[in-house]
Amino acid sequence: MSKTSLDCPRMKDWDIIASPDAIPAERYAAEEFQRLFGQATGIQLPIRYHAVKSTHHVYIGPSVALGKSGLSLDTAAMGEEELRIVVERNRIGIAGGRPRGTLYGVYQFLTGALGVRFLTYDHTHVPDTSTVQIPCGVFSYNPPFSFRWSHYRENTEHPEFATRLWVNTVTSDARLGGKTGRSLIGHSFHWLVPFGEYGEDHPEYYALVDGKRDTNTRGSGPQLCVTNPDVIQVAAESAIRYLDEHPSARNVSVSQADTDRYCRCEACEAINQREGTPMGAQLAFVNAVAERVEKAHPNVKSGTLAYWYTRKPPVTIRPLPNVQIQLCSIECCTLHAIDDPNCPRNQEFCQDLAEWQEICDDIWVWNYNTNFHYYDLPFPNLRSIGPNVRYFLRNNVKGLFMQANGNGLSGELADLRNYFIARLIWNPGLDDQAVLEEFARLHYQSAAGPILDCIKMFHDNAEQSGVHPNCFPSPDDVGLRPEIARRMLDSFEQALHLAENEMVRARVEKASICAYRAMIEAGGPIKKAERKAIIDRYIMLCRRYNMTHINERTPFDAAQVDVRAMAIELEPGVYEAHVGHYELVNAPKEIVNGLGDTITLSMEGERFLIETRQGKMQFYPETERLFFSALDRGITIRLLKDDEDRTTGLVVKLLDGREIRAERVR
Ligand SMILES: [Zn+2]
Ligand SMILES: [Zn+2]
Repeated sequence: MSKTSLDCPRMKDWDIIASPDAIPAERYAAEEFQRLFGQATGIQLPIRYHAVKSTHHVYIGPSVALGKSGLSLDTAAMGEEELRIVVERNRIGIAGGRPRGTLYGVYQFLTGALGVRFLTYDHTHVPDTSTVQIPCGVFSYNPPFSFRWSHYRENTEHPEFATRLWVNTVTSDARLGGKTGRSLIGHSFHWLVPFGEYGEDHPEYYALVDGKRDTNTRGSGPQLCVTNPDVIQVAAESAIRYLDEHPSARNVSVSQADTDRYCRCEACEAINQREGTPMGAQLAFVNAVAERVEKAHPNVKSGTLAYWYTRKPPVTIRPLPNVQIQLCSIECCTLHAIDDPNCPRNQEFCQDLAEWQEICDDIWVWNYNTNFHYYDLPFPNLRSIGPNVRYFLRNNVKGLFMQANGNGLSGELADLRNYFIARLIWNPGLDDQAVLEEFARLHYQSAAGPILDCIKMFHDNAEQSGVHPNCFPSPDDVGLRPEIARRMLDSFEQALHLAENEMVRARVEKASICAYRAMIEAGGPIKKAERKAIIDRYIMLCRRYNMTHINERTPFDAAQVDVRAMAIELEPGVYEAHVGHYELVNAPKEIVNGLGDTITLSMEGERFLIETRQGKMQFYPETERLFFSALDRGITIRLLKDDEDRTTGLVVKLLDGREIRAERVR
């Protein structure tokens, strides 16, 4: 027995002391402690509401008994998630600020002192700690990010699990401590000054684009004419009304629509020219709204997106103290850390964040953590997430929205990724690669080796390929070539052989979906029978493990995969007829800006490729295949053929139904 540690086996006659006045989350914290401590040690401690003697207690949450105990655990001044854990040889205290401090403290204790790991909603690793000694001491923690969202549907569907991973954004259940009072900042012009309500009588409220007041409602537009004083007034009234109706809200979104059709009227342009960015007029507007909001709701922030063309801060206009900036990293390379000096794609973002940091002390980041066009395709960003989180922390970022497969279940390595991200944004000081490896060893057990090798190989390959993928990459953009896809599939097949039981086998099967998708998308020439087997297995696995979405906008539909399977047989002889350059005819400016004016079809070995300004990707012309453009719109391309089956042109079909022709030029 040691003087500096507490022997778990000696705790048999202890009890848990909670307060009769505990809030629901503190009551639940005591139950969670009882349950998981019991599983770990085999000791079932009773929960009591009064302490009789002075020792042999685990105090959970603030209580009169805890106050009298003399443990230095005064929670009165603690923040809503701030926590403290005190371990002495004869008692333990775990308590924190309201509403989530105590509950998070219990999870911190279970994770830190007992080695419990909340890996997935249905897999909690509880080591046998019946002989463990817990070091005595005091541990205090206040999470550096006040808003933490590992954006996986696994969390929203299992809020108890999300809470165990300290995700504080997905449930309003008081038992789980509820959400942070500050919501994610998102597009809000459409409800602040609804076009349906004002568009007809006041077209001047909306953006002047190409000499006309905009009426286009795509992307929750149109944008507002942000210098119009009436618009400021209407928007402020809407924001105040929203806050009146949501008394617990601590912020309100005052944010541009998701289009680049911002107002170019004389007054708006004058500010933007002077400020060197369209954020000039936008921020002046947000400040004006925030000033009015403050009078009615003094403790509430008005938040705005610094996104796309508003990412760069203005030269002279400063956000008011009650303005929150949600900076979006959508343009960034996801393979390399944002502050990697060797990545050419990320330097501008670093510059912008550095400038924002100088002028605003309430910056949140909206960061992108999946391939939004292929939720289940291998995505090589597992080495940049940790450095990014630490970089955000160093730059005074206060909240992190780690956007991922939020609307889809069972995307690429979703279980591993959710755990990985959630733990890092709770504690950025962790060794990220150790967290990843530990998850794999605990969850995939004897099959972990080949899975870790596969992750390493895929990341090494992407790094060596010299690519800089954003969050909408094609298979080519992440270095996914036929031999790489094949090696991934081999790794997962090897892992399956190593799985020691059905449970582990199921976990490995679920994780292997990405390798099958890689083969389907980038496997190159494959014999027809094998291709059919791969596709059949892909569909079976997607169904078995409830893969709901193949990308941000497309639910998984086995029927569609079947159609693609038919089209996917590579017949180089046929494709050669399509090789050539195709020029867009009468294309709208934003399409030319996105795609360029020429589309090129080519052969590379036995692969048929399509190339636009967006890059190159493998293409299967027999099907109207979804093809990506950076306009954040899927497009499909259809080949036009003459009577002799010669390709004469293309039809590019946009998601809004518009069709644009491209004629063969050579
Ligand atoms: Zn204007
Ligand atoms: Zn890069």
